[in-house]
Amino acid sequence: MLNIALFGPPGAGKGTQSKYLIEKYNLTYIATGDILRQEIAEGTPLGMEAKDIIDKGGLASDEIIVQIIENRILMNPDANGILFDGFPRTVVQAYILEGLLLKMNTSLMCMLSLEVPREELIRRMLERGKTSGRSDDREDVIDFRLQEYENKTIPVAQFYNEKKKFYPINGVGKLDDVYKRLTKVIEKNLENVWLNIVLFGPPGAGKGTQAKLLAEKYNLIYISTGELLRNEIALDTEMGKIAKIYMDKGDIVPDEIAIRLIEAKIKMNPNTKGFIFKGYPSTIVQAYILDGLLRRLGTSVTGMLEITSTTLQSMKRLSARAKTEKARNYDLDPEIIIHRLEVYEKKAPKVAEYFQKQNKFYSVSGEGEENNVFEKLCKSVENIKKKLR
Ligand code: AMP
Repeated sequence: MLNIALFGPPGAGKGTQSKYLIEKYNLTYIATGDILRQEIAEGTPLGMEAKDIIDKGGLASDEIIVQIIENRILMNPDANGILFDGFPRTVVQAYILEGLLLKMNTSLMCMLSLEVPREELIRRMLERGKTSGRSDDREDVIDFRLQEYENKTIPVAQFYNEKKKFYPINGVGKLDDVYKRLTKVIEKNLENVWLNIVLFGPPGAGKGTQAKLLAEKYNLIYISTGELLRNEIALDTEMGKIAKIYMDKGDIVPDEIAIRLIEAKIKMNPNTKGFIFKGYPSTIVQAYILDGLLRRLGTSVTGMLEITSTTLQSMKRLSARAKTEKARNYDLDPEIIIHRLEVYEKKAPKVAEYFQKQNKFYSVSGEGEENNVFEKLCKSVENIKKKLR
């Protein structure tokens, strides 16, 4: 998700720029000031509680803000992202935001701060006051609003600066120029977001073939647990020796081994655009492990792409592969093939459910020509990619 906080003193132009940004990036807009004004207009208990302090130009309490913000964030699990305007305005709110986004398995991509000198802010707010009808766009109140900003809101900048997510942007000049400065930073950030796709499906569904094609098309690093393990076996390493015992039987290798190989492979490619994982996660435990690993590296699974295959089709493909030089030890014995399909059938539903719950699950039929399946997969990847923005 593309979550952005627009920051800056009152009058910096956050509301104006927000309109353009939500349209360009298809974002849900959450402006705490607007919500509070609406609550006041509707005479809700929260609105009534906040009214006096807002009229004076002070900040509403964090307790009020947390109550109006949670529902709005959780209401939109399918959004491309959220644009926050006027929130977080205190360090406490910054912590609250971190927690809420974490709950949605996402985080704030950046805080964009519109920097405008004090005289210009005052001029703009007085100008707006002529038409806005806002009780706080008056000379006596404006001064206190700016004071509140200095005292309570500026520390939020430090909070995100420490996380390397804070971007000061010159907010003076033509609307369009300021807009271009903002989008430039957003585009730069988007370039650095990894596209991580998990290719899922039973043995013989065509995951390996398709994953390599997808990796090439989308410029991703292909990570096949099976391949990494076969490498270890060929090199006769300690991990390889252990892995071989499990693989030859058609069983899943111990979790410590696979994840160490995956982590090493990820770390070898810090400058990639993302990864395509094949054959991992294949159990619910592995789903948690991969999530944890990626999060530790500041990224996450963008989407899981399942290629479905009937048992008959899988059997046909695997026994065909057994007759080629690509044959694996575990392709040669029908009993082992059946065992692998059984293991998949048993473990897969929980893995799929894990990603379904996060709205990250996509499924494509593996029936038919390689090209046709690839085309369908690409369509799903385009949808997954939207989750990045
Ligand atoms: P704004 O529309 O963002 O300029 O907000 C107008 C007024 O609403 C502010 O001066 C505050 O009194 C109140 N307000 C808006 N957002 C917040 C927030 N995140 N925390 C506390 N008070 C807020």
